[in-house]
Amino acid sequence: MSFADLGLSEELLRSVAAAGYDTPTPIQAQAIPTVLMMRDLIAIAQTGTGKTAGFVLPMIDILAHGRRRALMPRSLILEPTRELAAQVAENFEKYGKNHDLKMALLIGGVQMGDQVKALQSGVDVLIATPGRLMDLFQRGKIMLTGCDMLVIDEADRMLDMGFIPDIEEICSKLPTQRQTLLFSATMPPPIKKLADKFLTNPKYIEVARPASANINIVQHKVKCGSRQKREVLRHLLRTDNVATAIIFANRKTTVRELAKSLKSHGFSAGEIHGDMDQSSRIAELDRFKDGTINILVASDVAARGIDVKGVTHVFNFDTPWHPDDYVHRIGRTGRGGASGRAFTIYTDADAEAIENVEKLTGGKIPEIKFDLGGEAEEARPARAGKSRDDKVRDDKAEGKSRSAKAHDKRAPRGRGAAEAEDAPREERPVRGESRRDESRREEARRDEPRREERRARPEITRPDTRRDERRPRWRDDDPPSKPGEWNGPIPEFLGVSALN
Ligand code: AMP
Repeated sequence: MSFADLGLSEELLRSVAAAGYDTPTPIQAQAIPTVLMMRDLIAIAQTGTGKTAGFVLPMIDILAHGRRRALMPRSLILEPTRELAAQVAENFEKYGKNHDLKMALLIGGVQMGDQVKALQSGVDVLIATPGRLMDLFQRGKIMLTGCDMLVIDEADRMLDMGFIPDIEEICSKLPTQRQTLLFSATMPPPIKKLADKFLTNPKYIEVARPASANINIVQHKVKCGSRQKREVLRHLLRTDNVATAIIFANRKTTVRELAKSLKSHGFSAGEIHGDMDQSSRIAELDRFKDGTINILVASDVAARGIDVKGVTHVFNFDTPWHPDDYVHRIGRTGRGGASGRAFTIYTDADAEAIENVEKLTGGKIPEIKFDLGGEAEEARPARAGKSRDDKVRDDKAEGKSRSAKAHDKRAPRGRGAAEAEDAPREERPVRGESRRDESRREEARRDEPRREERRARPEITRPDTRRDERRPRWRDDDPPSKPGEWNGPIPEFLGVSALN
């Protein structure tokens, strides 16, 4: 199938060809004709599947007919983060270059004046994060009554970030006669409810997860003691032929500290997280894209959807709390047919998180074994045919993991992870409260760990917490390592990993 078979205009086919794409991805093949038929759509698809072009391309052709009016955008795309919003805007620029369409980007961290000016002159496409859009709406700077096309992108991430009430309110401001497209990586009950309420007779399409389908990403996990994580990471950075890497951590403070520590060890590292304003995030991303730095330490929300070509490695310095984040994280490498390598560093405390990731991706992640000395009892992974002592230790860990599970159940989804880490609400002022009050409140909240977060973290009693400065060594009985190549055990995990 080619793009020409999908019913797109000649102008659009020219821009697609100029972008270098000749074959539609499965989501594009299914979504484009549906959208052109003006039907509502629910698409279960992740970043990396080509879903953005799946809605941007038909939208451009639909919007090619019709006229702009001041303050009344003709279509609206809601994105959970500024980075994703900016990337969708880039897509519009790329594919819409043969069309006379105007676009405005409404995101936090950018001067509101310019955004209002753009709206005043009339726009065909408004790309917004919910917080900033509600803000402007409440100030009477925007009318949504002329907006008869709505895209809700990354709906499950919106849910994690607490944006669903905003989205419901926004939907209620739009004309009831409209076309609505909803994209989500998963379909948890609140998203299903949202879809039932705001979509009319939608077509439902689902495409494979890119991570499980992406045979270009080789995945590994590395177990160590919690105090050895940095050392293990540095070792991997030095020995695995790393050209460019994104390192994910679960908390903003970890991102900051880790970037600092890597720099002090001579690595060319930068950072991107939710505490940085938009221009600093963009500047840091640009430094990464142009090769000024080759390592970017990132939080999930800030890095969501980042599309940088040629990232050779992804490291999970922390195991993600939500398995979906694992899929999103490792999808930053192995893009566009290139091969990539993803390492997850984990400790005893992450046993359940790793288990959840493996459940989601459908198989065990191959383990790399280190001989760490010092904390080795904690770090050394179990081999086939465990000793009795190993078994006793494992049983204890299991008990710990169960109690952690009990804690986790009490902690609401999203609170421990992305939200606690990135406080997306920072974009939105509380009514009647000044920006300065708000930022003070945010500051205080950030410095103090959240109660849920504290509860959700299991207590670990470590038999020996001595810091061992010795460099980790690959086990002697492992096959010799070629730089940049997998050097751990291979066979039983080929379902997940992409070796050979
Ligand atoms: P997305 O899932 O929208 O984040 O897109 C993931 C990546 O796929 C982006 O780098 C796109 O530029 C790229 N892409 C989108 N459509 C195609 C296509 N038909 N062929 C090849 N690459 C594509």
